[in-house]
Amino acid sequence: MVCALFALFVESLAAQDLGPHFLKIKDGIYVYARDANSNCGIIVTPEGVVLIDSGPNPPDSLIILKAVQQLTSQPIRLLINTETHNDHTTGNFVFSPPAMVIGAAGAAAGIKNYYDPKRNEKLMAESGEMREAFRGFRLVTPHVEFHDRMVLQLGDRTIELLQLNNIHSDADTAVWLPKERVLFSAATAAVKRFGFLRPFVTIESIKSDIKKLKALDPVVVVPAHGLPGTVQLLDETDTFYDILLDRVGKQMAQGKSLDEIKVELRLPEYQNWSGGKERLDTNIEAAYRALRK
Ligand SMILES: [Zn+2]
Repeated sequence: MVCALFALFVESLAAQDLGPHFLKIKDGIYVYARDANSNCGIIVTPEGVVLIDSGPNPPDSLIILKAVQQLTSQPIRLLINTETHNDHTTGNFVFSPPAMVIGAAGAAAGIKNYYDPKRNEKLMAESGEMREAFRGFRLVTPHVEFHDRMVLQLGDRTIELLQLNNIHSDADTAVWLPKERVLFSAATAAVKRFGFLRPFVTIESIKSDIKKLKALDPVVVVPAHGLPGTVQLLDETDTFYDILLDRVGKQMAQGKSLDEIKVELRLPEYQNWSGGKERLDTNIEAAYRALRK
């Protein structure tokens, strides 16, 4: 349930001239959030613009490019890929060159691994606008990778990149602006949607990274997908995993098999979450793996 205060917060953010789906978070910090698609962060600094992901698809990347040109005459200097999946990285080519692309260790290999030319073909078949936006496409992967933590200093802006491990893709990065107390949480916060938990993802890792990010004490949390909010987004995700572990644990205590649990488990509190049964099943599998240890 969206509380009135939160709705007000989002509404006030939307009041500026960049077009639909752009939100102003703080001076010089914007987010492009189109429905439940992947978000793109825009950070203007006196030393150039830093982008956080390249938008869900190339038409979005072009809209973002135009908005940046409206905001500043500074070039887009750095582009951070917060994960390796194509809905965060396909538009890299729109910004690079000149932008240098940064990701956590393993990001370049991960993006190459997930790259699917058929997905691009399918998208291009959707509309003339999409085909046009793909003009000049090339797979652009990070030029720089970091381990654990990397600090960018652009003029008076400090931007910290924090490596997240085994929480979603094979190279995930949270972005933290300590002065502004704005956190781009990558996939740690699931906004009313079940994450797709691949076999290498563990609930322990997700919970420990949520704890690490909460300890930063952010004022604004921008998730990978969905509208920005407060630390409540991290709390809600943490609570979801607690409830999931509890319910799966009870079924296991009754001697139920994983397949039986997938059929029988009920999470009435999360009926309004999207993502479908297949995604929920990957969550049940992860809880089962965690509890079987
Ligand atoms: Zn993803």
